[in-house]
Amino acid sequence: MLDIHFIRNHPDKVQKAAEDKGIDISIEELLDLDRKRRQYIVEIEELRAERNKKSKLTPTLQGEEREANIQSVKQLNERLKSLESELERVKQQFDEMMLVVPAVPFDDVPVGKDDSENVELYTWGTLPVFDFTPRDHVTLGEMHDMFDIPRGVKIAGSRMFFLKNDAVLLQRAIQQMALDFIMDKGYEVFSVPVLVREDAMRGTGYLPLGREQAYVLERDELFLVGTSEVALVSYHADEILDGSELPKRMAGISDCFRREVGAAGKDTRGLYRVHQFQKIEQVALVKNDIEESNRFHKELLENAETILRMLELPYRVVEVCTGDMGQGQVKKHDIETWMPSRESYSETHSCSSFLDFQARRSNIRYRDENGNIQYVYTLNNTLVATPRLLIPLLEVHQQEDGSIRIPEALRKYMGGREKLIPK
Ligand code: AMP
Repeated sequence: MLDIHFIRNHPDKVQKAAEDKGIDISIEELLDLDRKRRQYIVEIEELRAERNKKSKLTPTLQGEEREANIQSVKQLNERLKSLESELERVKQQFDEMMLVVPAVPFDDVPVGKDDSENVELYTWGTLPVFDFTPRDHVTLGEMHDMFDIPRGVKIAGSRMFFLKNDAVLLQRAIQQMALDFIMDKGYEVFSVPVLVREDAMRGTGYLPLGREQAYVLERDELFLVGTSEVALVSYHADEILDGSELPKRMAGISDCFRREVGAAGKDTRGLYRVHQFQKIEQVALVKNDIEESNRFHKELLENAETILRMLELPYRVVEVCTGDMGQGQVKKHDIETWMPSRESYSETHSCSSFLDFQARRSNIRYRDENGNIQYVYTLNNTLVATPRLLIPLLEVHQQEDGSIRIPEALRKYMGGREKLIPK
């Protein structure tokens, strides 16, 4: 959520941000509601004061004068009642619209309509050259008896799967390597609730605009999270932290659930786009200082890059354009890892800065060194997400005989094995 003072002072900037992000909202309409809301509040206060004054007068009056005063108080009460319900209606519309207002991207963010207009910043690693016909992860998975997609679909529908045998071990090995790495950096690690209340979804910006993407348990009024960021950011909701507690470096491990509406027919082969996956997510809460936030953006990005380097996987970093950004983000970098079967770098990590967008919605504040209360700034980035990361891992490190070379950094988490042999 943005500060209403900022919106009043920069309506054109906010309207442009909405257009650049493809969000349908009229800031003029919002400000009109804002004006009405404030007007009603003033009017109600004035009427209340008048009513109270008159009410106090009644016992001091006699006869007709007293009767006329009682009538006038009655009329004022009726007018007040109708204004209060009008204010309630306007306030509700205003609050609903405020939840749709986007954060304004930094000036240097490229304007574009979708991910085809993201801008490559740099690459790392050398693309693999195979002197045999490489197999895709689905074929490799069959050779190793690692996944069962048809039976996943049989019992749970499209985009569902079983991981088996070495794939289970690989997923756990990658996660353990990532946890060791991130704990070594001083991050607190959390296993988080994956069922959360609506407040947590709204507070992190996944509602109302992301409603279609989320699984809902209506009877229990709970939502399945699409990322542990929802729980990690909400951990300090409605709290006032002491400035000395910041920055907070957190990492959450969870299953993630996504309906993937709008992706019908897209990425249907294999394990790239699924409804349920596991992810370790990094989250940082920092002071409301743009430079500090930018330092952390870099740190979260570097952490993810280090993991990919440990896994010896070539990748590139792209600057995400406005149309491919979420509502609350002011800056975003994706890391795309080389996936031979897709003959492309494809997204495996997303690093985002929000400034105080989530903190205002979630009401996360801190007391600064002067005793003033401020909203924190929040950031997040993927650390590892599987099974998507298994795609490059299997495909890049495959050998002609179908075996998979295990990168050195991962071996100690795989019982010292150097390669996986097909069954
Ligand atoms: P996001 O939270 O949308 O930025 O996604 C973070 C990472 O989670 C992505 O870069 C992917 O690695 C992974 N991911 C997101 N959605 C899916 C999905 N539907 N299936 C598999 N992995 C996903």
